[in-house]
Amino acid sequence: MLFGRPRKNPIIIADKKVSDWTYATCGYCSTGCAIEIGKDATGKVVASRAVGNADVNRGKLCLKGMYGHELFNSPGRGETPLLRQHIGQPFAPTHWDHALDHMASEIKRIQGAYGRDAFAVVSTGQILTEEFYTLGKLTRGLIGTNNYDGNTTLCMASAVSGYKRSFGSDGPPGCYEDFEHTHCVMAWGSNLPEQHPIIYWRLKEALEKRKFPLIVVDPRVTMIAQFADIHLPIRPGTDVVLQNALMHVILDEGLQDNAYIAANTTGLEELKAEVANWDPTTAAKVCGIDEDTIRHVARLYANAPAAMHIWTMGINQSTHGSDGVVGLNNLALLTGNIGKPGGTALSITGQCNAMGTREWSSCSGLPGYRALENPEHREEIGKFWNVDPEFFPKKRGLFQTDIFPAIETGQIKGLWLVATNPLTSMPNTARIRKTLEKLEFLVVQDAYADMESNQYAHLYLPAAIWAEKEGTFTNTERRVNVVRQATPPSASCKSDFQIFNELAQRFDPDGNVHFPETPARAFEEMRALSKGRHMDISGMDHDLIEKNRGIQWPYTAAQRDNNEAPLPGGKRLYTEPASFYHGDKRAKLIPLPFIDNNEQPDNQFPFWLNTGRLVEHFHTRTRTGKVGNNNKFSPIPFMEINPDAAAELGVRHQEYVRCVSKRGDAVVMAMLTQRVPRDMVFIPFHFFDCVNRLTLGLLDPHSRQPAFKQQAVRVETIADQIGAARLSRELRTY
Ligand code: SF4
Repeated sequence: MLFGRPRKNPIIIADKKVSDWTYATCGYCSTGCAIEIGKDATGKVVASRAVGNADVNRGKLCLKGMYGHELFNSPGRGETPLLRQHIGQPFAPTHWDHALDHMASEIKRIQGAYGRDAFAVVSTGQILTEEFYTLGKLTRGLIGTNNYDGNTTLCMASAVSGYKRSFGSDGPPGCYEDFEHTHCVMAWGSNLPEQHPIIYWRLKEALEKRKFPLIVVDPRVTMIAQFADIHLPIRPGTDVVLQNALMHVILDEGLQDNAYIAANTTGLEELKAEVANWDPTTAAKVCGIDEDTIRHVARLYANAPAAMHIWTMGINQSTHGSDGVVGLNNLALLTGNIGKPGGTALSITGQCNAMGTREWSSCSGLPGYRALENPEHREEIGKFWNVDPEFFPKKRGLFQTDIFPAIETGQIKGLWLVATNPLTSMPNTARIRKTLEKLEFLVVQDAYADMESNQYAHLYLPAAIWAEKEGTFTNTERRVNVVRQATPPSASCKSDFQIFNELAQRFDPDGNVHFPETPARAFEEMRALSKGRHMDISGMDHDLIEKNRGIQWPYTAAQRDNNEAPLPGGKRLYTEPASFYHGDKRAKLIPLPFIDNNEQPDNQFPFWLNTGRLVEHFHTRTRTGKVGNNNKFSPIPFMEINPDAAAELGVRHQEYVRCVSKRGDAVVMAMLTQRVPRDMVFIPFHFFDCVNRLTLGLLDPHSRQPAFKQQAVRVETIADQIGAARLSRELRTY
């Protein structure tokens, strides 16, 4: 006898006839999933699959990784370098030698006429670490501009700045395995199931084995908030107030870890003086979380034997982003939750290699977390690269978010964009459009010729994607993992590594500064430079990394020589007492006064505008917009609006509306949902000419990261617009 539904239409997984699998690491988000790319007998890439024995993802991939193989033949890829004299003219194809000669001569012309820093470079978190290292050597050692930054300023700069202020160095101190040891997780502005689905799966698996409280702080009822034990729907931009109130309760009730504080920190008295101002009653009026809940959460967190914070853009993309990170570090330090299993403050990074750029690109300094401000570091790198240390600037130049205003004012005349798309990703894109128009010379280097910023390029360089090349990425938990070349670059594309090397020859024809020929050789240089530093990778090489499915730094040559297993090489940082990177080896407890400086909703613009990600898409959709299954599930921009607010405005579900800020407008489909409160709308940030027409992007004073999540808008219905058009016609007639 048969039970259940007859197997009428069983799901059949098509046999892709894969004859060969290549090991790689997913090239989208910072989770760092190990992935294999399958080719058929003709060499065509036809499939992707997860790697079962990789500790990060343990056989799982999210929607983006699953369709990663579709990127290799996706539409919009560049095929050959393109050149034009003036914006608005059609591009003409050219050959590589001419393109790179022209680029070098334009950079030299601009630097000769206006000074070295008049040419700027903005790179990415997407290319391989060996490529970052090479770009850093080229930019710092040969081109010599100090206006060099990465697009990671839009996502991770506050985390970097906060870690440096608290601990004396960048470097997330925890790891995913901490979920398996923790007794309490607080997730701040981090919608893991949509942003980092596989990290969420690691958290969920830990929760299923061993129950512990999950507390989510987010103004929106995000997917993770729906699974939380406690959701704190905080007023936008007031994280620091809530953090101060939690510390107030902890100190008031004596829940702090006095022994840890005495052995590891400085600044307790100054911190106490500030948090004394933030009793829960006062804080509740500012942050919108009631005082009993503040007390309850403070006790839950501080009494847990090990507790962790995780956070993403909800903290970082704020005018108090760096302070928000310091606040989380303060909480962790007060309760002794750093450097122990399950006790950490773990910034979940954004792009697949945001960590690689932080470690090796020389954007904010010199490679291996060295500082331009430190004469010994300048000397050391100058000697290693064979560059006069006096050639290096003595302090870091402009951040990405300051480079664009410097173009507006004429301080910068030329720009090189490497795998980044500011015309979609930057706040207030109407202003960015005008800014790009002002450039005398813009080079866009990207795998996709149809990416929006290319509209303003004079020169386009077609780059290889991800597994068309070889090198490493570092993920959120400091795990270095390798990408092997699955297939040669398409058409006449070149790897970013090759482009940097060939451009270097135009600046240094005698080869005084050595540029390794292969990524593996570049990795050898990085290993040597890392020796003895806290991000020591001297025990690693590409083969060992692949064999271990990724190795967390630090992993030293001595550990390798002693045959120590790479794991748990660098699971956690700051495991020893007083092992921080300030001069006295202690972490700083830093008081955080609160200044309410966001744009606020008012009568004219009554809604908070919040922005964020969708699980189907990555950043500006340059790639996921081309993949059928990603695009099919999320094809158009939309706006979440609370049903009560919608009813008041007369907006119906799935009706198009116009969302307006002081900067511009965007037409979006209204989705009625209780995920947003009555005074907030949410629009995903992936779509071109959409939400970033509205955003203001006030900058954090420490990190220069923009506040994408706190601005004011109004919503106009189609009827409003018809009425307005009619009124305007009538006025004209009158
Ligand atoms: Fe790739 Fe991130 Fe998805 Fe993993 S979670 S498959 S790294 S996009």
